[in-house]
Parts: sequence; C-alpha cells; structure tokens
Amino acid sequence: MKKPWETFSAVGELYEPELKRTVKEWVLLMQGLNKCDWYLKSGGCTMCGFNGPASAKEEYAWLTKYFGRSALDAMYWFGYFGIRHQRPERLTIYNGGNFLNSGLEVPGSKPEIPFSLQTAICRHVGRHPTIEKLFVETKASFITEKNIPILKECIGRKTLQVGIGFESVDDRVRDKLLKKGTTRFEFEKKVDILKKNGVRSFAYVFLKPVGLSEREAIDDAVNTIAYCFAKGIDEVSLSCAFIQEGTEMCEAYRIGAYKPPTLWSIIEVVKRTASLGPVRVGTFEDEPPPIDVPKNCPECTGTVNAALDRYRCSFDPAVFDGLDCPCR
Ligand SMILES: [Zn+2]
Repeated sequence: MKKPWETFSAVGELYEPELKRTVKEWVLLMQGLNKCDWYLKSGGCTMCGFNGPASAKEEYAWLTKYFGRSALDAMYWFGYFGIRHQRPERLTIYNGGNFLNSGLEVPGSKPEIPFSLQTAICRHVGRHPTIEKLFVETKASFITEKNIPILKECIGRKTLQVGIGFESVDDRVRDKLLKKGTTRFEFEKKVDILKKNGVRSFAYVFLKPVGLSEREAIDDAVNTIAYCFAKGIDEVSLSCAFIQEGTEMCEAYRIGAYKPPTLWSIIEVVKRTASLGPVRVGTFEDEPPPIDVPKNCPECTGTVNAALDRYRCSFDPAVFDGLDCPCR
C-alpha cells in the first residue's frame, strides 16, 4: 500500500553534470498558498498545464484552504519524514509556480511560498548531513537583491540552484507564442543577481512552441541555449513539448494544427549545443500526465528513447552515434 506521503515526496536518481555522477534526488511536489502568480495575472503560459482543473494542485487545494501557511510547513516536514532514511544528496522542489514568490517581491502578487518557509528549508538543507544542493524554480521577476542574499546565507556552504523558465531568446516566441512575460533584460539582470551571490543558475529552454515549424523550433532552441551559456547560465534544461489537458497547446493539438517535436529534433539540438555547457533533456512525464509526447515512427521510437535515457545519465552526446531510421 502507498504511504500517505508517497504522492508528493519520493527519492529517485538524477545525473549531476557538476559531479559527473548520479545522485540520490529527493523530489518534493509542493502545494503553494496560491496558484502560480503569472497564471492568476495573465492566464499563464500557453504550454503549461500546472494550474488547470486536471492538475494535482486541485487535489491538495483544500490543505492550504483550511490550514494556510502551516499546511505547507507540515507538507515539507511530513514529506521529509517519509524519505529521511534514504540519505538524499539533493532536494528538488517543484511547486508548479514560483518558489521565491512570498508576496513581497513583486507588488500585487499573491504569495505562493511564505518567506519563513523558504528560509526554514534553506537552513534545513544547510545543516543536513547528506543533502548538498537545493533546487527550486521561479519566474525571473521573483529573484531580487533582497531575498537571494538571505536565502544564500541560510543555506550556507551548500548549493542553492534556481531554475528560471526563459524558454526562448526570440522575443516574439517568448512573449507572443509562449506568453512568458519575461524580458531578456530582466532575465539577464536576475541571472547577475544569482551569480553575484554565489547561487547557481539554471534555465529552461522550450523545444517547439505552437506556431513554429520543426526546423524553426530546432534553430530557436539552439540559439536560446547558446545565448543562455553566453550570459553565464550554469545549466540548461531542454523542455520538449508534450501535450497536457487544459492548455492552449492542447487546443491546437486537438484540431490537428500542432504535433510535439520528433526525437530526432531533440537529438539535433543536443548535438549542436552539448559542447557549450551541460544540457539536460527533460523527461516526458509530468503532472497532469501528458496525452501525447515527442516520438518518432513506431519502428525506432523505443530504441531512440533508450538512447535519450542513456544521455540523461551521462550527458554524453556520443550515445546518439549510429542511430538511424528511414523516418529521420
Ligand atoms: Zn523511425
């Protein structure tokens, strides 16, 4: 039988390019006090399924409704209690929004994670015997000159890494096609704040927004990754489009106007950028579960996916050598 915390807290494995080995990763799916601030303000990004009615957030919404901020503290410590004997080396928190949004960073924002809990988690990681690194995600706007130095002080000599959804260097793709609401200027400024404070930076790059052809999407992702490393980003993750219910992307998919990228496209992006810095390839699993994912023809999809898995635990693009199929 599933333990009560297992739906939101578990330990798995993840390759760390910095260490050149696989580490034990504690993944905590955390509820926020409110949904993603950008979703509330704008309806959110066109490919994001985190906030729709099919998302797991709805399942836990009652928790914060009745218990407020103490529900989140309880979720963290209860989640930790469940995995504490497994000696994780890294903690990754996904809250389907902005971990750094306590309501104070950007005027008019509804808080997602109270600052008291952000600092408590950093302090916990800071003195934990095995966890060396904390990874959180946020929209760039919640990175400030105020919160970052405090969080860094709380985590001490351990590593804090902040993942930013930047997605595309092309203003039209980022603003019009994906509706990210982050400018290049803001992104660069916030990356500088992270660097100045000894916090590691991480950028999500999106492969194949609705509105770009397969070829345009590949070139856009390659240009974006090159730009990110040129601006000092420490690590990039390629988010390959998959279809989740309740998104604008899903509507285009349903009328036959859009298909996720092929696995060949993913491989091309990796091969053209792997020499620039660590490029992670995101998995095609998420919450809510995708209804379609990147694939090739039925003959080669299995083999090529297996090669992608080998890449995910080695970051070595040589694993793609020799792969071919008439569908390429
Ligand atoms: Zn094929």
